[in-house]
Amino acid sequence: MKIITIPKIKKHCAVIGGGVIGLSIAWRLLQANVNVTIFERNTLARGATHAAAGMLAPQIEAEPSEEILLNFLLQSKALWQDFAGELEAASGMSVDYRTEGTLEVAMDGDQLRHIRDRYTYLDSLGLQMIWLSAAECREREPYLGRSVQGGIYSADDHQVDNRKLAKALEIAVRNAGGIIREHTNILNFTQKNSTVTGVETTAGIENFDTVIVTTGAWTKQLLGQNFPMPVPVRPVKGQMLCVQMDAAHPLIRHVVRSPEIYMVPRLDGRLLIGATLEEKGFNTQITFGGMRQLIEAAWAVLPALDEYPIVETWAGLRPGTLDDAPILGKTPIENLLLAVGHYRHGILLTPLTAKILSEIVLQ
Ligand SMILES: Cc1cc2nc3c(=O)[nH]c(=O)nc-3n(C[C@H](O)[C@H](O)[C@H](O)COP(=O)(O)OP(=O)(O)OC[C@H]3O[C@@H](n4cnc5c(N)ncnc54)[C@H](O)[C@@H]3O)c2cc1C
Repeated sequence: MKIITIPKIKKHCAVIGGGVIGLSIAWRLLQANVNVTIFERNTLARGATHAAAGMLAPQIEAEPSEEILLNFLLQSKALWQDFAGELEAASGMSVDYRTEGTLEVAMDGDQLRHIRDRYTYLDSLGLQMIWLSAAECREREPYLGRSVQGGIYSADDHQVDNRKLAKALEIAVRNAGGIIREHTNILNFTQKNSTVTGVETTAGIENFDTVIVTTGAWTKQLLGQNFPMPVPVRPVKGQMLCVQMDAAHPLIRHVVRSPEIYMVPRLDGRLLIGATLEEKGFNTQITFGGMRQLIEAAWAVLPALDEYPIVETWAGLRPGTLDDAPILGKTPIENLLLAVGHYRHGILLTPLTAKILSEIVLQ
């Protein structure tokens, strides 16, 4: 008897949304031999992915009552170094993963009390932090303002260049044979007997076995009112600005934060300063008040900034949720999956989200 082996039919998966979340899930699926088409209504990675600061900071950003989320953030952080290495090999470009660590400093007595409370809380969770006197803070970052009172140092809170990350993911997806359809707005998904069958573009309907929604702050617009489960994702505006330092002599080398601000130095001398947290719907205007808030807080920490040019300002929309945690996985509609609502941690959560979603598709 002759045994005929029938080749396994490859799944064809649609990913709606070309930010870091959609791109990274697509890359993992392509590596597992799944056909993937990404639909992006603008150009790739110009949403929150472009606006972010790229901090990979589960520890220093830990909030009381968010311990379940913290555990998730720490798991993703643990994947980051290998993820960056693998992506750099697949794309042939660096994503500037940096491990100098993060310093949070207090500039007055109130901030010092606030940071001490945080230190006690973080210590109670067993997170590795070092308490620093004012002199020790300045030893690490000599340009800190004279009024620095003390601070904490977290060696494990790192950073990546999120714009390079997105570019590297795009290259990796293309190299792996992924199809990227920019300027293609998905109007809806199609279904039969509560199973997803494809997506609807302005040009018509296209069939897919699986559809993954990664539409960030715009998710409710796509899913509409009648979606059979609540998906409470809302836009949370963040304004930022960027100062150009001398790349050979940067003012800071760590990510430096105060309770009011963070500053993220890039290898090319750019210093990202952020970010406001505003409930303004889909408004992304740069405002005088937003810039004033950032400039005043940054100047208190790093007065030497006075001499440096502002080279960019921008605002982006974080996909916020009720509990600050993402919404991941299956829905009541068979083969329609969600990976949305990554709020302030979508860059940090990229490796873990891609792992979880690709494992669900491959089950
Ligand atoms: C100011 C700021 C600072 C931040 N800093 C950090 C940080 O330091 N560290 C960190 O981990 N995270 C940070 N974040 C959060 C992080 O940027 C987000 O959580 C993450 O980028 C979310 O990625 P995403 O792919 O889900 O969304 P997005 O990057 O917004 O991508 C969603 C994409 O879907 C597309 N889309 C929407 N609807 C449709 C449709 N119907 N059809 C086709 N395409 C569609 C959009 O055009 C968009 O490109 C920051 C965010 C902001 C705004």
